[in-house]
Amino acid sequence: MHTVDIIVPCYNEEEGLSMFYDETSKVVNTIPNYSFRYIFIDDGSKDNTYKKILELAKAHNDVKYVSFSRNFGKEAGMYAGLTYSTADYVIIMDADLQHPPALIPHMIKGIEEGYDCVAARRTNRKGEAPVRSLFSRSFYKLSNKMTDINLVHGAVDYRIMSRQMVDAVLKLSEVQRFSKGIFEWVGFKTKWLPYENVERTVGTTKWSFWGLFKYAIDGITAFSVTPLRIVTCCGFTISLGAFIYIIITIIQTLAFGIDVPGYVTTLSAVLFLGGIIEFSIGVLGEYIGHIYIESKNRPIFITKDTNLYMKGNNDRNE
Ligand code: UDP
Ligand code: MG
Repeated sequence: MHTVDIIVPCYNEEEGLSMFYDETSKVVNTIPNYSFRYIFIDDGSKDNTYKKILELAKAHNDVKYVSFSRNFGKEAGMYAGLTYSTADYVIIMDADLQHPPALIPHMIKGIEEGYDCVAARRTNRKGEAPVRSLFSRSFYKLSNKMTDINLVHGAVDYRIMSRQMVDAVLKLSEVQRFSKGIFEWVGFKTKWLPYENVERTVGTTKWSFWGLFKYAIDGITAFSVTPLRIVTCCGFTISLGAFIYIIITIIQTLAFGIDVPGYVTTLSAVLFLGGIIEFSIGVLGEYIGHIYIESKNRPIFITKDTNLYMKGNNDRNE
């Protein structure tokens, strides 16, 4: 019998949780030779998610939970789930049923075919604002150009991983986590399962546009120093241009006498360079900010309550 932990990060998901449990259990209970258990991560929800999870845990033996002291974000939720998991395989999936449980048997099949990881990939973005899809597509293009890792377009966090891969992911213990990149970075053989996007039926998305934008910047800066190189190249090109301009001006002055300098030219040069300098400081600042936060070495999450031990197979309740 192989064991599988299903990690479900939840933030304000009270409405959908029991439906999630029922729908997913219907699917996993039909899979022979694998025993499943859920690890719900209550990410400091402001609604009754925690209470709902406790109810589920009371009613079902296969429901485990970890409740955070506050909202730490989905990335922290996934990391906590992986930290607490002890099973041979780990599935990460959203609580809102946007990750169809029907894919789980296919994921198991992929594992049996010898893959270390089977991950879901959205083939369309139905129900999403067009501008959000546009930005998302541009992000993938930009990120794949700038970083060494290749992010797969439409890849979501819904996946099954072998214990070996989970342990590798856990070794990357950075506080500012960008899991999509981390999963690629650790390597291992991944099979992609395409699926049609499912719209959320209950609750609302937790992502704001600004939140996604910050996530995208973090994603790129976490895996590449290309932006710093671009700044260096810009500086070099501008200096070269300025040097050529100075030579031309000196020759002109020597040959034709002193020209009255143009007010507009001076002002545009100052403003343009000012802009570039501010931008460069901003790019540097992004990296320094990352170093600053990482150097504090704070925990990724803080557990307030759980029915699991951090390491080991036993449940506190048994
Ligand atoms: N989530 C979380 N912490 C947060 C935000 C979201 O654990 O701070 C969970 C959320 O409950 C859901 C999953 O992450 O299970 C995906 O969130 P959401 O559905 O809002 O994202 P989307 O599907 O719109 O990308
Ligand atoms: Mg969702």
